[in-house]
This record gives sequence, structure tokens and C-alpha cells, in this order.
Amino acid sequence: MIYDAARLPLPARVRADLCVIGSGPGGATAAAAAAEAGLDVVLLEAGPLVTTGEMNQREEEMFPLLYWAAGGRTTVDRAVHVHQGRGVGGSSLHNINLCKRIPPEVRASWKLEHLPPATWDALYDEIEVALSVSRIPSLNRHNELLKRGCEALGWAGGPLHHNRTGCVASGFCEVGCSFDAKNNALKVMVPRLLSRGGDVITHCQALRVLHAGGRVTGVEAAVIDEATRRPLGLVEIEAPRVCVAASATGTPALLIRSEVPDPSGTTGRTLRLHPGVACAGDFDEPVNAWLGIPQSWECTQWLDFAETAEHRSWIIPAFAHPMGLATMIPGHGAAHREIMSRYAHLAVFSAMLHDRTAGVVTPAGDLDVAIDYRPSAEDRRELLFGLAACARLLLAAGARRVYVPGAPAVVLGPGDDPFAKLPADFAAGDIDLTAVHPMSSVAMGDDPRTAAVDSRGRHHHLAGLWVADGSLFPTSIGVPPQISIYALGLHVGRAIAAAG
Ligand SMILES: Cc1cc2nc3c(=O)[nH]c(=O)nc-3n(C[C@H](O)[C@H](O)[C@H](O)COP(=O)(O)OP(=O)(O)OC[C@H]3O[C@@H](n4cnc5c(N)ncnc54)[C@H](O)[C@@H]3O)c2cc1C
Ligand code: SF4
Repeated sequence: MIYDAARLPLPARVRADLCVIGSGPGGATAAAAAAEAGLDVVLLEAGPLVTTGEMNQREEEMFPLLYWAAGGRTTVDRAVHVHQGRGVGGSSLHNINLCKRIPPEVRASWKLEHLPPATWDALYDEIEVALSVSRIPSLNRHNELLKRGCEALGWAGGPLHHNRTGCVASGFCEVGCSFDAKNNALKVMVPRLLSRGGDVITHCQALRVLHAGGRVTGVEAAVIDEATRRPLGLVEIEAPRVCVAASATGTPALLIRSEVPDPSGTTGRTLRLHPGVACAGDFDEPVNAWLGIPQSWECTQWLDFAETAEHRSWIIPAFAHPMGLATMIPGHGAAHREIMSRYAHLAVFSAMLHDRTAGVVTPAGDLDVAIDYRPSAEDRRELLFGLAACARLLLAAGARRVYVPGAPAVVLGPGDDPFAKLPADFAAGDIDLTAVHPMSSVAMGDDPRTAAVDSRGRHHHLAGLWVADGSLFPTSIGVPPQISIYALGLHVGRAIAAAG
């Protein structure tokens, strides 16, 4: 059953074999896998249950409904926007459905006892069937321009894969799908959990993992009022096993707030954001970037996964809904309006960085997180390189003008060399950075001296505690993470059941 905590008589008490916290790809999959292996599972979700019928594709209504902080979450210095989902399904409700495996060389470099490359391959094979992953069948004009730019420059690129079926290419994936075409955690994993007798409790935000004598005893959670986002009362879950899957920001914040022991000192201190930069090109021809599947082509010319690689930039078209685009365009007032009047002719390319910077996540009070992430000099250099590469691609595809954000903003025309014209460095806040793939904040490792969690997701220092989300990656993975997080969910859910 799916219950809304706001309708339970309070204070409420619930018992289960396993309490999973967070219903994104990691948590929903771990919950389903553990229930399929015979455990009685309750899945807590801080946000609401939002159904397809409630998704109206309007940015101003869907961002507050589907995202933490209405889409306005940032790092503490406000230099990076960090978009994360809130609601049953987590970020899988509003993500862009790209599915890319972690490159084998990255997986091999981790040397994890319980996750050797062959285990990853088997998990991917299974999850790709479960989510009906396939090659994206069409390119809209926006993606064709990226392909055209790659071909003109002789840069490497190719088509992408996704987990959609019955997609009508409406183009508004980032604000939820009104056509039920996403094979996401809500559509695929939650029904698997429910069919095995598991329960989901919405508006139920874990405040603390409870523990005594070196063992987990349960979870204390707040009932959240959707209108005010403030607590209405408490729910206590009694459970000998707890699996935290509250995202790469929510999970370390919850572990720290719960005073879970961690002699390795790593919890929350190894966050990667996979941050992105973007610039816009103005084309004579209409681009109509909002029409069609938003991202279907990638440029991989400057994406090298070697540990010492010079270039680490993954380039794709960035979704171009009006509010999102307006925040990326430089200028104010009439100048800004003039660029926006070219909306139908604008293309936006984005470079995401396979980052090495380690950010820090801590709790902010009982209900929020604080994210401190300041890109290192080498990462800032590569972000600028990625931005210049995006500008070069836009010009090669035929853009008349390219707007590169920054202080000062740079406007480029045909014949300009973006690599020569962009500054050598930038200060925090000078260039908009956006992160949609936070990860690696509770990095798994099999040595309890250097990691808090092992490569089954089992906590080294508190019996009965597990982690099953994007926090677990030992490093940045440099590609979109959802499919790998679903795979980790299967892996951890089964390990919990096998551990007895
Ligand atoms: C705009 C956007 C586009 C994206 N596009 C892609 C893409 O195309 N391909 C791809 O691979 N990835 C994409 N991603 C990223 C991908 O969706 C995430 O990496 C993935 O959903 C993370 O899974 P998770 O289970 O770790 O966490 P989440 O999906 O973030 O789920 C965590 C859940 O836990 C809940 N929660 C948090 N704290 C608590 C608490 N204390 N108690 C109870 N519940 C709690 C949250 O509300 C949330 O529902 C995108 C992300 C965004 C924002
Ligand atoms: S493009 Fe496809 S998956 Fe995205 S919102 Fe439209 S119908 Fe749904």
C-alpha cells in the first residue's frame, strides 16, 4: 500500500524487517529487491506521490512540486545550482532518461571486492531489461545541430540510449512526463515492491537513524506538511535493518545527523557534482529546441576517463525550456529581452565535468542539507575548456552568434576562436554552474579504515545499516548515473536479504 503520513493518526509507530529511506532509483530498487527476497519492507519518502495526471508540463508549477527547494537548491556560496527530485521516484520522475553504463576502465579502477566488473555487467544486463532501455530513435533539430558540429570538426560523437516507451517526444521531461512514457522508479520499481506486500509512506522524512549498542534499531521520521514543508508530527519505525537512499546529499546529511560512527572520517567529505556549464548559439534557421526528445546525441571528443586525463568534458544539448534558458542568457532588461526574442532560434550546448574536486555535505538543521563545493583550479580550467568546446561546436554548426555566460560575458561570431577568447580562470559565481548528478558522498570501499560502507552497501561501523544510492560511487563516474544507481539498488537490496 501507499500511505500518506499526513493522514496517519499521530504519533504513529510502524514495524518492518527493513526500512528504506528515499524512493529514487537506489531506494525503490533496493526496497523491491529485498521484498522479492522475502523481507517485509517499508519505504519512506519525504515528498509526495505525484501521478502522471498531475504533471502539466508547466515549469512554474512542476519545479515547486517535483524538486527540493522548488529547484532553487544551491551550494552554500550559491555558485552551483544543484537540482534534485523530491517525491516517490526521486529524480527519476523528472530526469531526461539517458542511460549510460559506467565506462569499464572506471569500474575496474575501483577494485571492489563485491563489485568486480563482471558483477556490474550482470546487474546492467538485468536492469536494462527491467527499464526497457533502447537506442533513442530520433534526433530533434537541437541534437542534429550538435551532430552537425561534431561532423564539421571531425569530433567524436554518437547517439544515446534511454528508458522511455510510448514517448510522444513532447520535450518536457525535466518537469515530469504527462504521457507516462518514462520507465522510472515510480513506474517500474514501486509496483514490484507493492506486489510483494511492501509499503510506501509519503510525506515522511527521516530525521535520524536510531541505534543502540552498535546496532540499528529503527528510524525517527517527521510527517511533512506539503504546503509549508514543516513537520506536523512524528512517526517511529522499528526495524532491525535500515537502508539509507536519500540521495548523494540527503544520505550523508542523515548519517551525520544520526551520529552514525565513522572512524574513516569520509562520510559527506567526497562529494562529486559532475557540474555543467552551458552557452547559447543564435541560428538563422529555427531550432525550436523545446520540441522532441531533449537529449539524444553526445560529443565525446574531450571525455577521457584515464586518472591523469587532461580533458574530462562530456557535451550534450541542454534542455531549453523558457525559464531555464532565460537564467542562462547574459544581460538584463532590454538586452536580455532581445536575446530571448530569438528563443526559437537558440541552441544551448552544455559540457559536464568528470570532476576531481571533493565537496562536503553536512546537515542544515533537521530538514535540509548544506553543500560546500568549490571547484579546484584544474577543474575550473577544464570547465572553461568545456565551455569553449561547446562554443566551437555551436559555431561549427552554423551559429551566427554565441553567448558565453560569465563576468564579463563574451559574445563570439563566426571566425572567432573560443579557445583563445575565453578567460583563463573564473571566480565563484562568475559563471553559472549547474549540477544534476550529485554522487560519491559516502564512497564505498572494502577497507573500514578508509571507507564508511563496503561494496555491498553495508556500513562498516554500525550493524544493520546499509546505503543504496548515488552516494556509493568511489569517484565521479563522468556519465549520467541513474542506470548505475538502479544497478546498485538491486545489488544492495539482495545483499541485505542475504545477510539475514
Ligand atoms: C534535471 C535532471 C535530469 C537528469 N537526467 C538524467 C539522465 O538523463 N540520466 C541519468 O542517468 N541521470 C539523470 N539525472 C540524475 C538521476 O536522476 C539521479 O542521479 C538519480 O535519480 C539519483 O538516484 P538516487 O536514488 O541516488 O537519489 P534520488 O533520485 O535523488 O532519490 C532520493 C529520494 O530520497 C528522498 N529523501 C531525501 N531525504 C530524505 C529523508 N530524510 N527521508 C525520506 N526521504 C528522503 C528524496 O525526496 C528523493 O525522492 C538527472 C537529474 C536531474 C535533476
Ligand atoms: S519527451 Fe517523451 S518522456 Fe519526455 S515528457 Fe515528452 S513524452 Fe514524456
